[in-house]
Amino acid sequence: MTEGDCLFCRIAAGDVPSDRVHEDDLVVAFRDISPVAPTHILLIPRRHIASAAELVEADGALIGRLVAVAGELARQEGIAEGGFRVVTNVGADAGQSVAHLHLHLLGGRRLSWPPG
Ligand code: AMP
Repeated sequence: MTEGDCLFCRIAAGDVPSDRVHEDDLVVAFRDISPVAPTHILLIPRRHIASAAELVEADGALIGRLVAVAGELARQEGIAEGGFRVVTNVGADAGQSVAHLHLHLLGGRRLSWPPG
């Protein structure tokens, strides 16, 4: 997978439209096209990273930004008080369907645990 073939790289570049809710120098966030909760936002690094399995310690600032923005968006969406979930799927068994690292921010309803 090259950056040119990657859907989320194209969304980050603005070549594919998305409902953006946040962008900065490292991170872009947009609403999931098939939401599974009242709030369902995807947070991605601008840089192509296939999944969380590829992260190294030097990516610490990037991960910090992703998680901090997730919390900020949860507050903006009004779900911080009630509770929310931040999750990333890695590989086929976890159901990862887009090979560009993304955090799902989910909330606005009761979320079951353990996940399916
Ligand atoms: P995952 O299955 O964890 O890889 O999550 C990929 C997510 O990307 C799914 O929840 C999809 O609904 C979402 N998705 C796929 N294409 C788009 C798109 N063009 N815009 C927004 N979300 C998308």
